[in-house]
This record gives sequence, structure tokens and C-alpha cells, in this order.
Amino acid sequence: MDADTLRQYLEFYRDLGIKTVYRLPVETSAAPTAPDIVEAPPMETTATSLLSLAPEGDTLARISEDIGDCRRCKLCEGRNKIVFGVGNEQAPLVFVGEGPGADEDEQGIPFVGRAGQLLTQMIEGTAKKEGINLLRRDVYICNVVKCRPPGNRTPEPEEMEICGQFLYRQLAAIKPKAICVLGGTAARAVIGRKEGVTKMRGNWFKWRDIPVMVTYHPSYLLRPGNPDAKREAWEDLKKVLHFVYD
Ligand code: URA
Repeated sequence: MDADTLRQYLEFYRDLGIKTVYRLPVETSAAPTAPDIVEAPPMETTATSLLSLAPEGDTLARISEDIGDCRRCKLCEGRNKIVFGVGNEQAPLVFVGEGPGADEDEQGIPFVGRAGQLLTQMIEGTAKKEGINLLRRDVYICNVVKCRPPGNRTPEPEEMEICGQFLYRQLAAIKPKAICVLGGTAARAVIGRKEGVTKMRGNWFKWRDIPVMVTYHPSYLLRPGNPDAKREAWEDLKKVLHFVYD
């Protein structure tokens, strides 16, 4: 890593309020002009078959209408608000998280709590440092499940399968240039892979024909004791942003 990149890296985490950078990066990798894509195996759930249910000329408004006052799984029992998605409906980049937390459930908007604030800073901070003019509102952000799992537990396979059909319709309607999945649950839902995030991150996969980058969930980055993950998430985001916006 050259001195300039190192300075940017340290400034980036200082701006995010992350004071401890445990291990300095030692290697540099050039941003690819085109992603080196790993083909994902077929999804193991039957959710993929639901893709054919996406109506011709589907829109986010129609998907939201179809979700309605959803009672399709038990997550409806504890929710305050359905958290559909937020941002630019024609965004070339979509971020997919796991499911709403307490703040999101309260406001009906994805990624507005602590993890959300970190995600916003990561998107805007990385873009700024890379000379890309990009704000959170320019991308689209949504989750695999649209209702908060009780106690923020991981969504169950059935919940992911039921809600996944709406996520797929969202992705198909937006048709972004790339998708960035945040954490293992989103990776499982979108690319159908179960390996750990540490193994998958930084690599390109595919959802239909759309390149998908896997990176860490911001909640994971907020936990102490994940020293390398912060640098890696920064590298992953740089890769995605250059691919989409260069
Ligand atoms: N974590 C998520 O996965 N999604 C949110 O919207 C908030 C926190």
C-alpha cells in the first residue's frame, strides 16, 4: 500500500469515529476494470422459481403494493412497520442487508440505526475519498426480509424464502449495474452461497447477469475485535464504487 492510500485509509476510519486500526494494510490491489466473476451455484431454496412471478414491467410501487399489509410469515406479528427499501429507484448500485432492526422497524426505513449510519458514512466517505460524487440517496438500500426478526435474530429460511421473492422483484425492477450484499444472510439469499463472509468477501459473484460483491455487514464492523474487517470492507467498497461509477 502506498503512502497516499495508507493516509486515506487512516483518515477514512478516523472520520467514521473508529479510532483503533489494529493492523495496517500491507498489500495493494488494483481496482478491476471488469469484475472477475465467480459463478454462483443455483439457490437451494425454491425461492428462485418465484422469480417467474415477477410481472412484466414490474415496478417498486407495484411490488410494495403486492406486499401490502403482509401476513405471509410470522415476522408480521412483532413488526411496527414494513421496511421496503429506500433510495434511487434507478440506482446503478443496490445494497442488500439482512433485515430491519429496532430503529428501522420504528421508522420504516432501512439502515437508519447505528449500523445504518456507519453504512452511510462508508458509502459517502469512500466515494468522496475516491473522487466519486455519490450520496446515500443515489444508491438503493433494502433488506432480505422486510419485517424485523424478534430480538434481531437471523431470519429463518422460510422467512427468507417468502420475503426473498420481493427482494428478487426489487432487484429485477431496478436492474442495477452491481449489487453489494452485506453479510452472510444477504449473501445466502442473493447468491445462494453458505460459505463464511470472510471467504467470499472482496469477490464478485452473480445474481442473474448482475455482478454481486460480498462484504461485511456494518454491524459486524461495529463490534470490537474485527481488526482486519474494517480495512477489507473499505477495499471491497472501493472495488464496487469504481466498477459502478468509473
Ligand atoms: N441491519 C440490516 O441488515 N438492515 C437494516 O436495515 C438495519 C440493520
